[in-house]
Amino acid sequence: MVERLRSQGIVDEKVLSVMGAIPRHVFIEEALASRAYDDFSLPINYGQTISSPWIVARMSELLLANTDLDKILEIGTGCGYHTAVLSRLVREVYSLERIGPLLTNTRIRLHKMQINNIHLKHADGFHGFSEVAPFDAIIMTAVTAHVPSLLLEQLAVGGRMVFPKGSRKQHLCLIERDSKSFTETVLEEVNFVPMLSGVVRR
Ligand code: SAH
Repeated sequence: MVERLRSQGIVDEKVLSVMGAIPRHVFIEEALASRAYDDFSLPINYGQTISSPWIVARMSELLLANTDLDKILEIGTGCGYHTAVLSRLVREVYSLERIGPLLTNTRIRLHKMQINNIHLKHADGFHGFSEVAPFDAIIMTAVTAHVPSLLLEQLAVGGRMVFPKGSRKQHLCLIERDSKSFTETVLEEVNFVPMLSGVVRR
């Protein structure tokens, strides 16, 4: 998988080595485990997906940009694979998921893997995590037509946000915040599940 990611243009060696070390098959159903290292997004429970390895790698390298990050926010924990990857690349990961039972399963899985620098919360990511903000970086793993303004407010000056944007066609976007403004760069075409508001309790 790592060699394929390299051939697909991923250059951040830290990202590649972490993705080589974290088993991806433990995040998906046993019936699909044989496809865990192919470059597909795969279905998980509750109508959601695990992002493809290339997406996880690409978003991670855009987020890191060869810097050391202290505190980041992920919107859309899902099965927790990307959360686990990020936990090895930054000091503290905060991650929000709107589907309660999905988050419960993920919490158990990540606990078993003894990943301790993550903070999972059952919440609607549209509101961000104001108690802990500002964040050095924010990653959103579900798509919206417009970037939620509350998330931009929670990005530190000098911070970066990576997310998919669009409706019929979606693109990966990078927003960089400096002391005066936000600069947006539109990147590759992608395909994500929608960002939905409100939380699902069971
Ligand atoms: N990061 C995951 C990808 C998960 S798919 C991975 O590693 O594969 C996107 C996730 O975003 C889904 O679990 C979905 O339930 C969640 N999501 C959608 N809208 C949300 C919202 N408003 N707040 C929090 N999570 C949300």
